Amino acid sequence: MPRQYPIEKTRDIGVVAHIDAGKTTTSERILFYTGVAHKIGEVHEGDTVMDWMEQERERGITITSAATTCFWTPTYAKGDKNMEYRLNIIDTPGHIDFTVEVKRSMRVLDGAVVVFDGVAGVEPQSETNWHYADEYNVPRICFINKLDRTGADFDKSFGSIIERLTPNAVPVQLPIGLEDKFEGVIDLLRMKSFRFEGEHGENIIEGEIPANLLDDAKKARHTLLEKVVEKDDVLMAAYLEGKEPEIADIKRVLRKATIDNTLVPVFCGSALKNKGVQLVLDGVVDYLPSPADMPATKGLDFETHEERERHPKDDEPLAALAFKIAADPFVGSLTYFRVYSGIMKRGSYVLNAAKNNQERIGRIVRMHANHREEVDEIYAGDLGAIVGLKNTTTGDTLTDPEHPILLERIVFPEPVISMRIEPKTKADQEKMGIALHRLAEEDPTFRVSGDPDSGETIISGMGELHLEILVERMKREFTVDANTGRPQVAYKETIKGKAEAEGKYIRQSGGRGQYGHVWLRVEPLERGKGFEFVEEIKGGAIPQEFIAPVEKGVTEAAQKGILAGYPLVDLQVTVFDGSYHDVDSSEFAFKIAGSMALQEACRQAKLIMLEPIMKVQVIAPPDFLGDVTGDLSSKRGKIKAMGERGTVRVIDADVPLSEMFGYSTNLRSMTQGRGSFTMEFSHYEEVPNNIAQLIIEGKKK
Ligand code: GDP
Repeated sequence: MPRQYPIEKTRDIGVVAHIDAGKTTTSERILFYTGVAHKIGEVHEGDTVMDWMEQERERGITITSAATTCFWTPTYAKGDKNMEYRLNIIDTPGHIDFTVEVKRSMRVLDGAVVVFDGVAGVEPQSETNWHYADEYNVPRICFINKLDRTGADFDKSFGSIIERLTPNAVPVQLPIGLEDKFEGVIDLLRMKSFRFEGEHGENIIEGEIPANLLDDAKKARHTLLEKVVEKDDVLMAAYLEGKEPEIADIKRVLRKATIDNTLVPVFCGSALKNKGVQLVLDGVVDYLPSPADMPATKGLDFETHEERERHPKDDEPLAALAFKIAADPFVGSLTYFRVYSGIMKRGSYVLNAAKNNQERIGRIVRMHANHREEVDEIYAGDLGAIVGLKNTTTGDTLTDPEHPILLERIVFPEPVISMRIEPKTKADQEKMGIALHRLAEEDPTFRVSGDPDSGETIISGMGELHLEILVERMKREFTVDANTGRPQVAYKETIKGKAEAEGKYIRQSGGRGQYGHVWLRVEPLERGKGFEFVEEIKGGAIPQEFIAPVEKGVTEAAQKGILAGYPLVDLQVTVFDGSYHDVDSSEFAFKIAGSMALQEACRQAKLIMLEPIMKVQVIAPPDFLGDVTGDLSSKRGKIKAMGERGTVRVIDADVPLSEMFGYSTNLRSMTQGRGSFTMEFSHYEEVPNNIAQLIIEGKKK
C-alpha cells in the first residue's frame, strides 16, 4: 500500500508530565476526541485506553511506553479531509522510578506536550523531564491543566514555568474563570473565546471575549506578538510601522520558533472537565514538528565507522531504531520501532547493526487505542511494532543490509539499588531465570546477576518501586512467586588523587617461569565518566600482545572493587612502562601484574566510596514542617528549597538513598498520614568517612 499520509502531516509526539498532573486523563481525552476511543473512562475507574497493563490500572500510573496512532483534523479546518493528520502518541511514564522510559521516548519523539497541574505549577519531576527534553532538543508546547481545581492559578503556574524551566514560554491562551468558575479559554491569536459543551465537551462554541477579560487578553496578545515578531525581520518591520501580523504569519513564525526551541507556546484547560484538549491538539498540528522538520539522523557507517546521515525520506536506505520491547497479551513479543529513513517492509530481511545479525520482519502492526492494525510497510518518520523478533533489544538499530548504519544508542542510567531474589519453590528456579532474563531484555535499567560468592541471584534497578513492580510482573506474567531480600544500595568506589605503581608477577623457580611487569598511572575522571584504559608504552617495554591482557586484568580488578567489593569508576588508568622476559612472559602473567598494579596504585591514590543521592520532594501540612525537615537533616539530607503550595508546604531535599528505605511508613507516621513524597536518582556523591568505614566493615563480615 502506498503512503497514506504525507510525512508533513505526521506528528510523533509524547505527553510528558509529573505524576498526577493529568497525563493519563489528557492522553485519554486525546484518544477520545481523535475518534478512536469510543468510550470515555476515568482513571479512578481503571478504564483508560492507554493503561492496558493490569497493574498499571491497580496503581493508577502509566509505566509502558507504547506508541498509539490516531488521526486529527484541526478544529479550524473542520471536515476538511485534506487537513487530516496522523498523530503517533508515544506514551511516556509519569512515575519517577521510570526515568528510563522517559529518556527512551525522548529519543524517538519529535515533540512533546508537557502537562502541568494548574495548582502546583512546576514540580521537581517536571524539571527533570524538561531537562531530558532539553538534552534531546525536543520542541514543546505546554498545557496548564486542572484549572477547575480549587487553588488553580494560571498566572502563578505560568510564572513557575518561566522561572524554573524556560524564559521562552509564552501564553497563546488565557483561561476564562478559574476553579469552579472555569468555563473555557481565550485564543490570543484569533481573539475569540471557546467554550466546550456536550457530555464530553465535544461541542466547541466560539464566541466573543467576555468584557471583563478583554484588557487582559489584549495585554497578553501584545506580549505574544512582541515575542513572535522578534523572530522575523519582515514581521518586525511591519509591526514597528503599526501593522499587526496576520494569524497565518503568527502561526508560521511561532511554529518555526517552537521547532527551534526558542519559544514555547502555553495552552490551558481542564482535561477532566473536558475543556481545552481539542485546541491543544490543534497546537500539536500547528506548532510541533513533523518528522520532515527534524534534522538528519546521525549514525556510524557499519563498516568504516565514519559518521553518516539519514534523512527522513522513503527513498533512502532503511534506518530504524527499536525503542521498546513489550509483551503483548495477545500476540506475544512486540518490538516497537521508529523509521528514520527508508521503509520497513513485511517479509524483508534487515540487519540488526548492534548485534550484527539478520532479522526477518514477519508481521508488522500499528497500535491504535482499541485495535491493532496489520500493515505491510512503515514509512520514514512513522512508528510501528514488529511481532516476534528474537534477537533485538531496546536501542538496537534495524537497517538495510546493503547500506547498514548504526544509530546512536540510548544512554540509560546505571541501577542504584539491588536485592537478592529467590523463587518460593525450588522447582521454579529455572523459570525464574527465564522470566528475569526476559524482563531485563525489555528494560535496560533492570539487571540480573549472580553473586559469585553465594550463588544467589541479584536483581538491580532504579528504585524500590521499580524492582517491586518487576517482581509483581514476574508473578503475574510468568507465574513465578519469589522472595526478595532487603534492598541494597549500589555503592561505587573511586579515587581522589593521582598515583603510579608497579605490579610484578614473577615466578622463576623450577619448570616454566612466569614474568609480567607493568607500571600504571591512575587519575580521577569527572563523575559519571566511568572507566578508561590508555596505553602509553614507549620503545616496546611491553610487547603489543601483552597490552590486552594487562587491560583485562585491570578491568576485572576494577569491576571487583578494592575497598569493599563495589565497582571502581570514574578513573583513567594508563599503562606507561614495564618489562618482559623472552621465555617466561605470558598473557596470564601480565593479567595478574595489571591487576596487582591497579590495586596498589589505587590504594596510594586514596580510595573513597560513592553513594547515590536522591532528589526528594516532601509535601506536608505546615504543622509537620519542623518534624519533616528535622528528620531529613538527620538522614544526612540537604534541604534545597521550601515553599508553599495552597495549604501545604513543599520541601525539596537531596538525601542519600541508603537513608530513604522505609521512608513512606516513616513519613506517614510522622504526619498522621497527611504527608507524601516523591524521589528520583540525582547523582553520586562521596560517602562520609565514618559511614564508609561502616559499609566496608559490614561487607567484610
Ligand atoms: P497522571 O498521573 O499524570 O497520568 O495523572 P492522571 O491523569 O492519572 O490524573 C491524576 C488525577 O488528577 C486523577 O484523579 C484525575 O482524575 C485528576 N485530574 C486529571 N485532570 C484533571 C483536571 O483537569 N481537573 C481536575 N480537577 N482533576 C484532574
